[in-house]
Amino acid sequence: MSPQAGSPAVEEGVPLARLTTVGIGGPARAFVQPRTLAELEQAVAWAFERGLRVVPIGLGSNLLAADAGVEALVVRLAGELAAVDIQGELLVAGGGAANAVCLHRARAAGLGGFEFACAIPGTAGGGVRMNAGAYGSDWSQVLVRALVVDSGGADWLRLDELELGYRHSALRPGQIVARVEFRLVPHPPDDVKRTIAELNAQRKATQPTNKRTFGSVFKNPAHELGAGRMLEACGLKGHRIGGAQISPVHANFIENTGDAKAVDALALMAEARRRALEQFGVVLEREVELLGDLELPPAGETL
Ligand SMILES: Cc1cc2nc3c(=O)[nH]c(=O)nc-3n(C[C@H](O)[C@H](O)[C@H](O)COP(=O)(O)OP(=O)(O)OC[C@H]3O[C@@H](n4cnc5c(N)ncnc54)[C@H](O)[C@@H]3O)c2cc1C
Repeated sequence: MSPQAGSPAVEEGVPLARLTTVGIGGPARAFVQPRTLAELEQAVAWAFERGLRVVPIGLGSNLLAADAGVEALVVRLAGELAAVDIQGELLVAGGGAANAVCLHRARAAGLGGFEFACAIPGTAGGGVRMNAGAYGSDWSQVLVRALVVDSGGADWLRLDELELGYRHSALRPGQIVARVEFRLVPHPPDDVKRTIAELNAQRKATQPTNKRTFGSVFKNPAHELGAGRMLEACGLKGHRIGGAQISPVHANFIENTGDAKAVDALALMAEARRRALEQFGVVLEREVELLGDLELPPAGETL
């Protein structure tokens, strides 16, 4: 099936395990990779006519998808919707552009300000949705506006309209960031390169960068301990359920040791929340996005 002649084909049953960094997840009912704004709008209309939800996906680096898959049209932006262009001090990126590509283009153009994203393995659009950030900066510090598409059409939303907060935006499910504009600052390419090397070295020393994970499991609570230190103090480093394990390197990461299921990761998350509540009286809030029929039990309960 195809939304319109010449448009990219809609594939059925593509395993989400192939589309997520943690490598977990059953089939997407439908999957499409639009290359232009027109193709994206056609895909959204195609799903709307069939009563299917639309789920945008970037590099799947903050996603835990259900073992049974998801009853939705999963959309991954490609072509010009994943391209990067420099216009003076503006970096204009397709929502599907990888952060690494944005950073490479910024450095080559002698622009700084996006170095903080060097270890965030996602896309420009996924970063808007999550207000991704690291090392004291985040998308809200560089974003000017984003072109947002849904079944009602396409609209540029300014930074203040997107209401970016700690790993939060006002984007609703089904809204797709098709393009973003970042404002950067002139900076010598060698300095940008040096900063990236330093930040990457720091990251390698403290996080499981060579394992299959979905990044931070929980947001940092309002507590002197971050989520990682708190779970470490609960003795959870290395704790394993099925094929999922709390990282022995950083307790706020869950690793897929090879054959992990979504339910294994979810059970680990529930256990981590139970222990944090018992030992610290803190309800940890999830950072990872859940896709499909997956729900964390109330804090304190196990799966
Ligand atoms: C090793 C590792 C390290 C990480 N470190 C960090 C870190 O330091 N800081 C940090 O903030 N995050 C970190 N993450 C998490 C993740 O990389 C970020 O949240 C990233 O911004 C997600 O981008 P993505 O494109 O992969 O989105 P996905 O994981 O594909 O999707 C995440 C959410 O965004 C939505 N989404 C994706 N694309 C779009 C779009 N175009 N329009 C609208 N919504 C969209 C999805 O529907 C979903 O709700 C890390 C992850 C890993 C695996």
